[in-house]
Amino acid sequence: MPSEFDLIRRYFTRPTRHTLLGVGDDAALLRPTPGMELAVSTDMLVAGKHFFPGDDPRKLGHKALAVNLSDMAAMGATPRWVTLSLALPDADEDWLKGFAEGFFEIAQTYSVDLIGGDTTCGPLNLCVQIMGEVPAGMALRRSGAKPDDEIWVSGHLGDAALALAHLQRRIELAPEAVAACLPALHTPVPRVALGEALVGIAHSAIDISDGLLADLSHILEASGVAAEVRFPALPASIFLVARLHEEAARTCLLAGGDDYELCFTAPPSRHEEVMAISRELTLPLTAIGMIRSGTGLRLLDAAGQEMKTGAMGFDHFA
Ligand SMILES: [Mg+2]
Repeated sequence: MPSEFDLIRRYFTRPTRHTLLGVGDDAALLRPTPGMELAVSTDMLVAGKHFFPGDDPRKLGHKALAVNLSDMAAMGATPRWVTLSLALPDADEDWLKGFAEGFFEIAQTYSVDLIGGDTTCGPLNLCVQIMGEVPAGMALRRSGAKPDDEIWVSGHLGDAALALAHLQRRIELAPEAVAACLPALHTPVPRVALGEALVGIAHSAIDISDGLLADLSHILEASGVAAEVRFPALPASIFLVARLHEEAARTCLLAGGDDYELCFTAPPSRHEEVMAISRELTLPLTAIGMIRSGTGLRLLDAAGQEMKTGAMGFDHFA
């Protein structure tokens, strides 16, 4: 069995683009760009909890980095450096090769340097720490939402949860729906360019990892405000829209999680600028409601009547 050192060298040493000293010494050396602040975040993926142990390692490599890139996007930060720590049950070279391919493919796409990490023997566990840069004082925070802000979301919500519900046999999807929704679960696209474009425009932002209601609630709590969300305005794929009469599908849309879209708030005076960003990035951006003064999140139906989220099992978001 190859030594840990051999494995790291073989699969996880690549040339860096903007790092003084990368993998191979006791520590990496970074030189942040003058005038920028560092945004730092970490996310751990545990087999059996966040993914299935038999999942395609290439897709796991993508997702482990994508969920961290999504946190940079939510701060408006440009991702720059990343560390990777792996606990592996054994040194399965096929698995490592696939994982490294998926990981470096998305690292290259977003120009992120892998600068260090650790490997150890243990139950399969993937831990990524990411560092990005954002102009001083300009990071998008959860605490900046103001009454009368519009609430926006990117892309479509609920497809990842719909695919997971299918894999867990809680919902049965037609093959074309499975093919359309699975990429949202396995290879999410972090909205990095959107986050960067929203710096100076959005008052607050968060990435949707735990479901729209839960993550928007984090903005409301941090900002000390309330929200009205129009249920019929929520962007969903045709496969999810077709099933919205089912409670399970509504749950995917509102509370499914794993979306990795951005939810942000911006004053109505910036509406046209947000729409221009949408066109430039060819990414749907949808205004789904308004920030109000007060506390709590009200979900409104097409007639403007409050929907009973309690009956849908979302009591804890009220
Ligand atoms: Mg996040």
